[in-house]
Amino acid sequence: MKLILLGPPGAGKGTQAHYLMDRYNIPQLSTGDMLRAAVNAGSAVDKEVKTIMESGNLVPDKLMIKLISTRLNEPDCENGFILDGFPRTEEQAHALDAMLLERKIILDGVVSLTVDKEAVIKRIVGRYSCSACGMGYHDTLKTPKVPGICDGCGNESFTRRKDDNADTITARLNAYFEKTAPIIPYYKKSGKFIEVDGMQKIMDVHNAIIKVLEINTKH
Ligand SMILES: [Zn+2]
Repeated sequence: MKLILLGPPGAGKGTQAHYLMDRYNIPQLSTGDMLRAAVNAGSAVDKEVKTIMESGNLVPDKLMIKLISTRLNEPDCENGFILDGFPRTEEQAHALDAMLLERKIILDGVVSLTVDKEAVIKRIVGRYSCSACGMGYHDTLKTPKVPGICDGCGNESFTRRKDDNADTITARLNAYFEKTAPIIPYYKKSGKFIEVDGMQKIMDVHNAIIKVLEINTKH
């Protein structure tokens, strides 16, 4: 199963990626992870990436494509992959397509999770977690059974991420809608585009994705 996963922050991409990884036994290829791995590894491509990152510059698209292409040779990609965080621009989408075409790799789907902006802000801003076991909560959507006490471990202290505030979330959402959302029409034309409402319950989102994927891949 070869997939691209698109969606703004708060769309539940990470959660859905995990369910897809388990179901199809495929890795999630996040560009952040690939770049971090490159800095610690030793191939020619890795060294090139390392030099650029250490100089404080952005890794050019061409090199990012090379890095992804190399990553696809790893044995864990035998059953496919989920590409997450790439492409982010139309140029990157074209470059990625050219590489996949050259390697005769055919995508099974480009999954796009849609969200309601206001609801996402509410979803993210209210979240917090147990500082001992990490169990996640929300001010209104998921409170502990006994107020102030973690359901999982009984701990009484909780933490909030600093960037889970309305201003930061709004800025990140706007960046997605301005820069990445314009690649959606490009993928819509490919016939592989799967749009799913990311505001549904987690398992409903998952089932909606696999329903389309399994129709698409049935030959
Ligand atoms: Zn806990």
